[in-house]
Amino acid sequence: MIHIDEEKIFSTITEKKPHSVALDGPDGILKKIQSCAHKLTEKYNIPVYVIGDTSWGSCDLNIHAAEMLGVDILFNIGHTISMENLGNKVIMVDAFDDIDFSKIAKRCAIELKKKKFTKISLVTSSQYLHSMQKVKEIFEYHGYEVVIGRGKGHLNDGQVFGCEFYPVYDTKDQVDAYLFLGQSIFHSASVAIVTQKPTFMLDPYFNEYSEISDIARKLEKKAILTVYKAQDAKTIGIIIGLKEGQFANIKALELKRLLELAGKKIMLIAMTEITDERLLPFEDIDAFIQVACPRIGTDNHFHKPVLSVPQAISLIKLLKGEPHQEFLQIKHWL
Ligand code: SF4
Repeated sequence: MIHIDEEKIFSTITEKKPHSVALDGPDGILKKIQSCAHKLTEKYNIPVYVIGDTSWGSCDLNIHAAEMLGVDILFNIGHTISMENLGNKVIMVDAFDDIDFSKIAKRCAIELKKKKFTKISLVTSSQYLHSMQKVKEIFEYHGYEVVIGRGKGHLNDGQVFGCEFYPVYDTKDQVDAYLFLGQSIFHSASVAIVTQKPTFMLDPYFNEYSEISDIARKLEKKAILTVYKAQDAKTIGIIIGLKEGQFANIKALELKRLLELAGKKIMLIAMTEITDERLLPFEDIDAFIQVACPRIGTDNHFHKPVLSVPQAISLIKLLKGEPHQEFLQIKHWL
């Protein structure tokens, strides 16, 4: 079950005495966030706003909404990062899942012996970071050497985002395999792509573990194919995402310059939510490059090619006749 660190929210409000606050977080915990809002309203009798827009990551905090609402504090819940505050309005609040990994970790540690792995690395997303130490001890007990990669930037040790992979990239030459804790193909497949190592997802809910490398290969192939599909585009739309942590206008202008040199006609587009539906009115554009979240194109369906920044760089290399296929085997997909 997911738990929000409500104690932190309560103690912050008691100490700072804001006139109003806002809460937001990923869709999966919006129900819990609403229940927290009820408790805060009852206790402090101040306006408490639940922001219903998406909050996909620490790049997508809805600060603009908090400013429009005029709140003193925006509590962003569930996107644990290595910093407690972002700017002077946002306070990051942890949400963690108390599911126990012991059973699946023991099974996996015994069964993976057949594969002759001796050195493994553990990795996870924010809500399971607290489980890492216990799983590490289980694998060590079964004779494995366990490496937990160092965090960098916003990442804690052993943590990955869907676009940022320092703890795994930096350890890929030291270990035989990666074990991702949690039920997330989204995260584990990208670990497999970045490291090109056997990667297993440990699912504590179904007490199962599965190798994710085939799914990762399909995702990577799809990403490469999209680059080839964009090759013949005459007009390319470069989309600048308007979410505060994804805004990359300079990168967009740099790609525009390089693609114009390669003979492409460019249309600059700005939008907040980048979906297939929102792109339909851009009928005269043959392919898009979005410089916001790199997972938008790889993990969603679009009728026309939609490239991320690494894919755009690969396209430019392809147009110049340079080697271009390993563009996702990098630390940060931006
Ligand atoms: S994968 Fe996308 S939503 Fe997640 S942190 Fe990166 S840019 Fe943000």
